[in-house]
Amino acid sequence: MIELKKLTKQADNKRILRGVELSIKKGETIAILGPNGAGKSTLLKVLATLIKPTSGHVLINGMELRKKQIEIKKLLGYLPHSSLLYDHYSPLENLVFYGNIYGVKDVEQKASKLVKDVGLSFFLNEPVKNFSRGMIQRIAIARAIIHDPQFLLLDEPHTGLDQGAISILNDVVLSMKNKGTTTLMVTHDFKQAAEICDRVIIVKNGKIVDDFRIQNHNLGFVTEKYELLVEGVS
Ligand code: ADP
Ligand code: MG
Repeated sequence: MIELKKLTKQADNKRILRGVELSIKKGETIAILGPNGAGKSTLLKVLATLIKPTSGHVLINGMELRKKQIEIKKLLGYLPHSSLLYDHYSPLENLVFYGNIYGVKDVEQKASKLVKDVGLSFFLNEPVKNFSRGMIQRIAIARAIIHDPQFLLLDEPHTGLDQGAISILNDVVLSMKNKGTTTLMVTHDFKQAAEICDRVIIVKNGKIVDDFRIQNHNLGFVTEKYELLVEGVS
C-alpha cells in the first residue's frame, strides 16, 4: 500500500510536484506517463527516499516515510537512469555486494540465478565495464530485485534495451507481480506500458492529470488518453 497526500516538492523556487494525491494497492502495476520535466523522476526519488518532499505525506504499508526511512528502504527496489553498478566488478560481484547490504540469504546462489535469469550467465565473471548499455541494464534490473522488494520503482527501464532484454524485464515485472510486488514504472514506451501494467497515471506540470485502468492491453486507449491530455489533440 502506498498513499500520497498533498505531496509537494520545491527546489530553487520551482514547484516540481504540486499536490500529488495517489493511492496504490498491493500488487498493482502502474505506468507513470508524462512529458519531459513533468516531475515523474522526482516522484520516484521521493518514494525511493532519495529526496525529501517539501510538504505532504507519504505512507508505505501504513508507515510514514519520513519517520521510518530505514524500514521502508528495505522494502524498495529502485532502478534509476544510472545503473548503480561498480564498473570493475563482475555481475556476480555486483549482485553479491548489493545482496549483502540487504542481508540476503544464500546470496551467491541467488545472484548467480538472477544473472542467469537476465540471460548473462556467460558473462558472470566479466567486469561490467566491458558491457553494452543493454547488458548493463539487465544487470541493473537484477540488482534492483536481489532482495525481493515489495515495491519496485523503475525509471524508464525500457530505454536502450533490445527485444530480448525488453521481454526479460517484462517477465521480471510480471513474475514479481504474481508474488504480490507493487510496481511503479516511469516510461515513454506506451506499448510496454499497455503490455504489463494494469493502471496508468499521467503526470503533467507536477500534478496527476489522469489515472485510469487498462484492460486487455489496450494500447490505443492509452495513446488516446495521453494525446488528449498532454498534447491537446482531440
Ligand atoms: P521527468 O522525470 O518527468 O522528466 P523530473 O522529475 O526529472 O522530470 O524533473 C521535473 C522538473 O524539476 C524539471 O523541470 C527539472 O529541471 C526540475 N528539477 C528536478 N530536480 C531538480 C533540482 N534538484 N533542482 C531544481 N530543479 C529540479
Ligand atoms: Mg525522468
